[in-house]
Amino acid sequence: MPRQLFRRIVSYKPKHFAKVTTVPELRHLRRKALLAQRSVGFVPTMGALHQGHLALIRQAAKENDQVYVSIYVNPTQFGVNEDLSSYPRTWPEDRVKLQALIAEFSTNNQLGQIAAVFMPSTKEMYPSAPPTSEIDGQGSFVTITPLSARLEGASRPVFFRGVATVCMKLLNIVQPERVYFGQKDIQQTFVVKRMVQDFHLDTEVRVGSTVREADGLAMSSRNVYLGERRRAVALVLLNSFKEVQQVFARGARKRRYLYNAAMDKLLSVQKQQEALPKGKRALFEVDYISIADPDTLDELEEVTVERGAILSGAIKMLPIEDSQEGEETGLGGGKSTVRLIDNIRLDLLSAKVGYIP
Ligand code: AMP
Repeated sequence: MPRQLFRRIVSYKPKHFAKVTTVPELRHLRRKALLAQRSVGFVPTMGALHQGHLALIRQAAKENDQVYVSIYVNPTQFGVNEDLSSYPRTWPEDRVKLQALIAEFSTNNQLGQIAAVFMPSTKEMYPSAPPTSEIDGQGSFVTITPLSARLEGASRPVFFRGVATVCMKLLNIVQPERVYFGQKDIQQTFVVKRMVQDFHLDTEVRVGSTVREADGLAMSSRNVYLGERRRAVALVLLNSFKEVQQVFARGARKRRYLYNAAMDKLLSVQKQQEALPKGKRALFEVDYISIADPDTLDELEEVTVERGAILSGAIKMLPIEDSQEGEETGLGGGKSTVRLIDNIRLDLLSAKVGYIP
């Protein structure tokens, strides 16, 4: 049915969502929605829900009759040495947050409702073979190149293969009118848009703004690993972007000036931390800083005022050394490296007022 024919039908709103674990059950619900001419907006997540996820669900409820949320920690996007087994899984808390959203949506007739939460097992999602995280492992995968090999993909070679594969599966199962992703994972939005275009998937990719903590740190399910000490230093990435905004506002357009502004900030904070005693410092490594075209994500040699750029980066917060008596070290005791990513849209208007878009 053509998308335009869908109209908003929100008069009856159930107070509970269906928790669905199998593909046939989900398809059954989806088919009922289709026959009842209810539009479906889909928000894929890995759970450990925070305000970033909830904002996407709110956006989906504004634009659709029904919202389907998936919670699935997808093994194929984790590298062999990454944190798959320790990734936070918080279903009891997630359920409470989803129930609160249901109550919130039920008071407003302009909003759709959360109709289904899809929580499949890995056997359900990867029916024919145990999924592999090996780079040359066998299996049915979707690869989107060269986009997937750059930036995040350079550090995490199987990451976007896993993301594209699981999104293809989920989109085939849910077949939503619209699917929602956060700008925080900007490269992921490019990869998914490219996949939707190249494989003729009949869905519209919608991107919601990055939701931040009060001090500006981008919300992430992984922030719970940081602990107080690393949390205080973690803002350095966003602060390095602010330096770039300032030199851009003062007229710098060439890559090397913009790039150096970010790196100077990162390296000076790195030095400050290195000079501190082990029990006080939080060391980090810079993974990359990218200044890229807003449409293609190709690296730019020069940023024009008309087009602006996507300024993105990643740092690795290294394990806490010499943790102190009574120190709040975060989930896992500060022992694991925590990789943080962020990005902003670099344009003159926001640069002039230091706004983080
Ligand atoms: P995840 O559970 O980390 O896979 O994220 C699920 C979705 O939420 C992805 O589309 C993310 O980009 C999005 N998301 C994660 N953190 C944020 C945030 N701070 N603001 C907006 N969206 C986010």
